Amino acid sequence: MGMENSISIDGSQLWSDLMETARFGATARGGLHRLALGADDLKVREWFASTCRALGCEVIHDSMGNQFARRPGTQPDLKPIMIGSHLDTQPTGGRFDGILGVLGGIAVLRALENGKVQTRHPIEVVNWTNEEGARFTPPMLASGVFAGVFTEDYARSRPDRDDITLGEALTQGRQAGAQPCGQHPAAAYFELHIEQGPVLEAEEKTIGVVQGIQGMRWYEVRVMGRDSHAGTTPMTMRADAMWAAARMIDAVHGVAMSHKDGLGTVGIVDCQPASSNVIPGNVMFTVDLRNPSDTVLEAMEQDFRARIAALAEDCGVEAIVSPVWNSAAVHFDPTCVACVREAAEEERYSMRDIVSGAGHDAAYMAQVVPTAMVFVPCLNGISHNEAESAEPVDATAGANVLLHAVLLADTRIDAA
Ligand SMILES: [Zn+2]
Repeated sequence: MGMENSISIDGSQLWSDLMETARFGATARGGLHRLALGADDLKVREWFASTCRALGCEVIHDSMGNQFARRPGTQPDLKPIMIGSHLDTQPTGGRFDGILGVLGGIAVLRALENGKVQTRHPIEVVNWTNEEGARFTPPMLASGVFAGVFTEDYARSRPDRDDITLGEALTQGRQAGAQPCGQHPAAAYFELHIEQGPVLEAEEKTIGVVQGIQGMRWYEVRVMGRDSHAGTTPMTMRADAMWAAARMIDAVHGVAMSHKDGLGTVGIVDCQPASSNVIPGNVMFTVDLRNPSDTVLEAMEQDFRARIAALAEDCGVEAIVSPVWNSAAVHFDPTCVACVREAAEEERYSMRDIVSGAGHDAAYMAQVVPTAMVFVPCLNGISHNEAESAEPVDATAGANVLLHAVLLADTRIDAA
C-alpha cells in the first residue's frame, strides 16, 4: 500500500488535456459550444477513446453511446469502480463543467499506469451522453436510462430543435454500441466536478466532500384578481393581482430565509393584460424551492402554501399553486463519501462538507450503485458560462482526491 499511497496525479498533463480538448468546440470568448453528439462532441469522443486506448484500456460504447474505458484489475470477478462525468457542454458553456470529471478520470488511469499500480477491481472511466440536456431535453438523459429512471425508447425519441432524435444522432455518429444501456456492471461511482457555486472559493477550501444533492420542487402560481382602470378604481376597491403577486414573491424569499439551508427563487413573472393604466387581473409566477433535506423541503412547501393563501385573502384575489416538477434529495453512500474525505485528509487539502445545488449524472448513479462526488472551486462560482474558470492547482487536487478515493474504495468495496 505504501507505493500506491505515494502516487499522484500529473497535474501538468491533466491541464494540457483540458486545454487540448477545449479546441473541440472552442468559442471566441474562451468557452465551449459542444452539444451532445454534434460534430465537436464526436471529435472529443474520438479523442477520449484513443487517449484511453493509448493507456492500455479497452473502450466500449453502450446502446446510449455512453463510453466506458476499462483498466483491468487483478480480480476479474469484481465489478469495476467507475469514475465519470460528461464531455458535452451548454451552447455557451465553459471548459470545466463535466470535462474535469472525465479528464480527471483519465489522469487517474495515467497515474495508476505510471505507478504500475495493480488494483483489485477494474477501474473504468465513463463519458455519459447528453448530460447537459441542451440539445436533447431533459438533462442527465443517458445516465438516467442507465439507472432506469427513463426508458431507452423515451430517451431515443427526444428531438433536438431540427427534429433530429437522439436515436438518429447516435446512429449517424456511430456512437451506439451493442451493450444494452444499464447492463454495464459497476461496484461504485465517483464523480469529480467544479462546484458551480461560490462557497469553496469564498471559504478558501480546496475540496468539497459532497454529501448529496439537494431536493428541488417547482411550482406555478396563478393569481387571479380583476382588470380595472388605474385612474378610476379606488385603492380599497381593487383586486390587484400584481400587488398580491409582489407580496407573494416577497413571501417566497421569507420562506427560504426561515428554513435552514432553504433556497427560494421566482424566475418568471407573467402579467396580463400588461398595460400601464390597467390594474392587472392575472399574474403567473414560477417558484423553485430547494433544500438538502426532503423533510425541511416539505415544511417549506407547507409554509409557502400557507403564506400564499393568507396573502390571497388579504389582497382579495384568488391564488392557485400547481406543482410542476420535483426531484427528491439524494444522499451519497457513506462508505464512498468516507473514501473521498480520507483521501483529501491523506493529501492534506483543506476541505468542507457540501451539498450539490445542481443536478449531476451522480444523482441517477446514486440510485443504482454506491456513489460519491468531489467538488473543487471555480472562479466566482460562475458556470454554464464561457467565463467559467478553474485553477490548475485545484484541478490537480480534485483529481488527486479522486485517485486516492478510488484506491481506498478498491480495498473496502467487495461487490462482485
Ligand atoms: Zn456537469
